[in-house]
Amino acid sequence: PTAELQALDAAHHLHPFTHAAALNKKGARIITRAEGCWLTDSEGNRILDGMAGLWCVNVGYGRRELADAAHRQMMELPFYNTFFQTSHVPAIALSTKLAELAPGTLNHVFFAGSGSEANDTNLRMVRAYWMQKGQPERQWIISRWNGYHGSTVGAGSLGGMKPMHTQGVPTIPGIAHIDQPNWWSEGGDLSPEEFGLERARQLEAKILELGPENVAAFIAEPVQGAGGVIVAPDSYWPEIQRIVKKYGILLIADEVICGFGRTGNWFGSQTLGIQPDIMTIAKGLSSGYQPIGGSIVSDEVAEVIGSMEFNHGYTYSGHPVACAVALENLRILEEDGIVDRVREDTAPYLKTKFEALAEHPLVGEAKIVGMMGSIALTPDKASRAAFASEAGTVGLICRERCFANNLIMRHVYDRMILSPALVISKSEIDTLIDRAWQCLDETHAKLKAEG
Ligand code: PLP
Repeated sequence: PTAELQALDAAHHLHPFTHAAALNKKGARIITRAEGCWLTDSEGNRILDGMAGLWCVNVGYGRRELADAAHRQMMELPFYNTFFQTSHVPAIALSTKLAELAPGTLNHVFFAGSGSEANDTNLRMVRAYWMQKGQPERQWIISRWNGYHGSTVGAGSLGGMKPMHTQGVPTIPGIAHIDQPNWWSEGGDLSPEEFGLERARQLEAKILELGPENVAAFIAEPVQGAGGVIVAPDSYWPEIQRIVKKYGILLIADEVICGFGRTGNWFGSQTLGIQPDIMTIAKGLSSGYQPIGGSIVSDEVAEVIGSMEFNHGYTYSGHPVACAVALENLRILEEDGIVDRVREDTAPYLKTKFEALAEHPLVGEAKIVGMMGSIALTPDKASRAAFASEAGTVGLICRERCFANNLIMRHVYDRMILSPALVISKSEIDTLIDRAWQCLDETHAKLKAEG
């Protein structure tokens, strides 16, 4: 029974990114099964998952082939490590496939168990790279405020989520942040193009402030995800690319959300015209069926790192079961034509309907790239104003209306986020958008009633 499960959950289970006391008053919603884009809860409700779990279940729930791949691999070789001159078929096959899919000279994979771990690898790797090249003073890594790169101490320091910097653990040294390219909230009187350039040039200013000879790398998500699906103006990435090239610093694209079809190409870097030296991957790599992440690095980075012993690794680096499942997931994405269908068919269909949400009185901008989008809620579209209430109050109301209407959308402050499974059909998109309108109407009505 639901109440019993909720009581046990409240008694023993600490949830990530959750105010436990507030949750326990209501009780958690308990998800019991899932199929395609649909979740079922312990009360028998069918819920349309507009978030693909945590932006990760790209091929949708219930794919038997993935369970079979895990079972086969567990029976054959459930675990072996890839340390000390050993390897195994799943890690070899997956790294080979990733080298084939990744753009340019990104041909080498260092596996991890998650996106956070992979970004910790990157932190070590870029510094080791410069030491090995005889430039040990190149220690600084620049990232962006409101970017998210994970929750370990390293990845949390790398990220720009201020609440994570102020709770308990001090951030690690040698990381500097620049502002995010969020035109809607921070663009003021500048046009999006002017603002994009201004924000990109903060990178150059920061490099000059730190001394170009001291800077190792710049890391960013092609489209900021957990920060609210912030799509940079078109002027932004070409300017970033120019700057990293000019100063010879490494570019790390955190593709944990953007990778594996989410933006309509295999990687967000391809959609946005970015040429990274390193890509962080996780989530859609296995569609969330197994915990696995990694760093895909260029021939040049691999050569430098490979010329010494890189003192780094995880027990589960290249876990055979996770690799086998990820490989099967990539086969499904490719052979079912899912990435192509997103780019050519379902994402354009979703875009038209999603952008029309901007006509709702409560919605300012509605931005979407492929299958990741967000709408900014506002009391006044013309001035792009924020609500007078504490940031996130209205977003939370809207998320709760979504819950009540059996739709999962996430809120980041007062933005509502959408990131469905890539297999979502057009009729499911229609249902999703109808429900989103309903939730916005109900949120609007509640705000009006409360004055
Ligand atoms: N990087 C990005 C861009 C993410 O969105 C996330 C998680 O949401 C991470 C890294 C961390 O990945 P994980 O939660 O697998 O550690």
